[in-house]
Amino acid sequence: MREQPVGLNIPVVWSEDCLRHEPGGEVWLGVREPGTEVPARALVLRDALAVRGAPIVPARPHGDEILRAVHDGGLVDHLAGVWAAWEKEGYPAQHGRDRVVPYVFPTPGMLAGLEPRVPPAVHGRAGLYCYDTMTLIGPGSWAAIRGAVDAALTAADLVSAGAPLAYALCRPPGHHVTRAAYGGSCYLNNAAIAAQALRAAGAGRVAIIDIDAHHGNGTQMIFYDRADVWYGSLHVDPGAGWFPHYAGYAAERGRGEGDGFNRNLPLAPGTGDADWLTALDALYDEARAVEPDAVVVSLGLDAAASDPESPLCVTEAGYRAAGRMVAALGPAVLVQEGGYDLASLGGLAVAALSGAAEGAGLRAP
Ligand SMILES: [Zn+2]
Repeated sequence: MREQPVGLNIPVVWSEDCLRHEPGGEVWLGVREPGTEVPARALVLRDALAVRGAPIVPARPHGDEILRAVHDGGLVDHLAGVWAAWEKEGYPAQHGRDRVVPYVFPTPGMLAGLEPRVPPAVHGRAGLYCYDTMTLIGPGSWAAIRGAVDAALTAADLVSAGAPLAYALCRPPGHHVTRAAYGGSCYLNNAAIAAQALRAAGAGRVAIIDIDAHHGNGTQMIFYDRADVWYGSLHVDPGAGWFPHYAGYAAERGRGEGDGFNRNLPLAPGTGDADWLTALDALYDEARAVEPDAVVVSLGLDAAASDPESPLCVTEAGYRAAGRMVAALGPAVLVQEGGYDLASLGGLAVAALSGAAEGAGLRAP
């Protein structure tokens, strides 16, 4: 008799709309390049997990309450409407501008204390809520952005209802988005929204562990003044020349009531499994000390050695060990962040989720 394969028993929450965001590249250092945050990422992840037996659960539509508790309403409205305004002004058809790309940014230094105005012209307004040139918006972007939020909220619902683990296959990713500014190929902060939803459903304290290769500056700043959501991240050292450059340093520990509820462990380029897992072990201890009722994992798979977007050198075995560790902290919503090497992405996701299943005491393949 043939041995039956053991399925990966973690719900994979998925929205078909996530495929509709086609950024069409990114403008990096003044040159438009093809970019790596492509729709195929989501298909590779979904298919790899489905083949291992994970149930694919459709994302349920949710209202805006949690979304607008996390984000400035102006940002949400901007993302929902900027493409239509861009199109109406003729940028794609008459001027060859097929994506929304800002060219001027109202930085604090520019305004020197003036209240930022909302420019009537969409080409001026494009930079109002954006902080870089590599996070483009096209016709299907809003549907995908909102689909990713619904996936995160549906996964949070499952965990709030008693599931030990749920995985939100969010695309586009989200952890670089602050309360009122998007960038880094991210538009709305899916992980922060999941954390807020867990709080709203009764979790007294939530721990967010961010293992994406890059610092989750957006998530950090959303919860920087709060003690009810602890944030910890291990990531390539921004001081070594890596995005997000301006945040992610060890000295950032939180502020006011949130003082002591933020922990960054920047790692040197080239860091592999041993040192990466040692750092994660330290984060685990700190997270456990705050006694979280629920956990959100910003699951970036771009710390892998094969990934084109980071210099970290983690293996599938490393991701499996990481999954095991974070899921042992408590009921967990795993939220997909980065991960860009299409050839290795599926294996990495299977490894991370298999480890998480073990950590949560589920049977794992
Ligand atoms: Zn990343």
